[in-house]
Amino acid sequence: MYRIWITEDLDEIGIEWLREKGVEVEYSRPTYEELLERVKEFDALIVRTNTRVTEEVIARGVPRLKVVGRAGVGFDNIDTDAATRYGVLVLNAPYGYMISTAELTIGLMLALLRKIPKADLYMKNEQWKKRELLGAELYGKVLGIIGVGRIGRQVAIRANAFGMRVLGYDPYIRQEDVDKYGVKLLSSLEELLPQVDILTLHVPLTEETKYMISERELRLMKKGAFIINCSRGKVIKSSALYKAIVEGQIAGAALDVHESEPPSDWSLIKLPQVIATPHIGSATYEAQQKVALEVVEEIWMALQGGPVRSSINMPSLPPEVYAYLKPYLYLSEKMGQFAGQWIRKPVDEVRLTYIGDVVDLPYSLITAAFIKGILDPVLGEPVNYINAVCMAKERGISVTENVGGQGGEFTNLVRVEIRVGKEYYEIAGTLIGRNIPKIVEIDGFRVDVEPKGNIILTRHIDRPGMIGKIGTILGERNINIANMYVGRKEVRGEAVMTLCVDEPVPQEVLDGIRSIEGFERVDFISL
Ligand code: NAD
Repeated sequence: MYRIWITEDLDEIGIEWLREKGVEVEYSRPTYEELLERVKEFDALIVRTNTRVTEEVIARGVPRLKVVGRAGVGFDNIDTDAATRYGVLVLNAPYGYMISTAELTIGLMLALLRKIPKADLYMKNEQWKKRELLGAELYGKVLGIIGVGRIGRQVAIRANAFGMRVLGYDPYIRQEDVDKYGVKLLSSLEELLPQVDILTLHVPLTEETKYMISERELRLMKKGAFIINCSRGKVIKSSALYKAIVEGQIAGAALDVHESEPPSDWSLIKLPQVIATPHIGSATYEAQQKVALEVVEEIWMALQGGPVRSSINMPSLPPEVYAYLKPYLYLSEKMGQFAGQWIRKPVDEVRLTYIGDVVDLPYSLITAAFIKGILDPVLGEPVNYINAVCMAKERGISVTENVGGQGGEFTNLVRVEIRVGKEYYEIAGTLIGRNIPKIVEIDGFRVDVEPKGNIILTRHIDRPGMIGKIGTILGERNINIANMYVGRKEVRGEAVMTLCVDEPVPQEVLDGIRSIEGFERVDFISL
């Protein structure tokens, strides 16, 4: 039975969901010392921002601890690098807040342009001041969205419904990604800013986005434009915005997020042209419930070994992509196991080349699967898709990936070159009909092996009688040959033979084959 420790607030709906799945849930707020002491009793942790999931916590938690879920978005409190090294998946719940934050953005936009907070204040003071409350419509205005991700796209849908023209700036996405949200992407801030009546920001806070709206950008904007910020406070330089509003360059701003929270300097917020809220983008019942359900469902999925949507230290995969990827992961891991048992020496370099359809998939996971196949059998600690490449690096194995090249008769091919000192080994595999895995090349020789069961691999001289001799030795020991393939580049030259056998092959039988003249190398591989 899985045990999950929820160490901070989580909506009851998420806890119920887990209990219905038969999970044992502990819901308490441990001190750091208690966390260290008891983390090893749990398969997963669910935290918010106050639980410090340090390397020490993760190290104490493994091998039982497999997942850390953040009920929310930011994860500064989780040592994700350490989690990666220890093979612990870290995931978050970034979709639950999306609608609430987009709705608040639209709410602030309407409030700002229609001066709703001021109107309400007049009314509360028993003042009937209609003249001062002349506002503006959203209809027909140009909205500029910086950061057209989850929330930016939801804002776009709603802005389109209001009859606004929606422009966007986001250098990390393509126009096709946002066509259906009615956003026209522009290639620079310089192009976007002079065109917009209202600017709204939906970017994460990064080195690049910190103060991305400062004096220069505010000057580039249309005189009398408005600004909304429901993303992170530090993406706008408050002092510059203050000045631009006082000077009349910017007509007003609505801010849910602030440079410091709570603000240390309230002067911007106190301007009559500014309306402000205390970071309440996600403060709705629905968002809290959605986040709780999102994080528990993701953790459950991860514990079952299924695809997760919002992993932080492993690429997240939509189910349809995972369905295509899964047989490649199997193939690649088997190829890695094959290579490990074949080579049996410390590897210096692994070079993977992806050819054909496979290049459209997140192939870094296929790389990880290969490394897992090689390392898992030889390391005491568990190797998984998350930590595989990291562990290879720690062992001095250089891992590189290339795309493209000749696949010959195959529509997809994963070819791996492995260097051990000055020796090179090569293995290639493919999927026949999307999900039948085959090893199809060994050291450049064409073979046809299903990567499972017991396989004898030989390197020999192609001459009459070789197959007969090996068959006799195996027959004498009652070892049944299920399948055989001889790959050669020229007649009577060097050849490779793969023999799939129904029984394990004892050492003396392999030695017997090795003693036959013309057999240069004989390996036994069990997958
Ligand atoms: P997201 O990751 O889905 O989208 C962010 C987008 O910004 C991405 O498309 C990315 O390509 C783009 N981007 C990154 N750097 C950029 C740059 N330099 N210039 C232009 N675009 C850039 O994130 P999201 O879930 O939509 O969240 C957006 C922001 O909203 C985050 O900062 C998040 O912390 C914040 N947020 C605030 C609240 C709130 O309570 N106010 C709630 C939830 C999220």
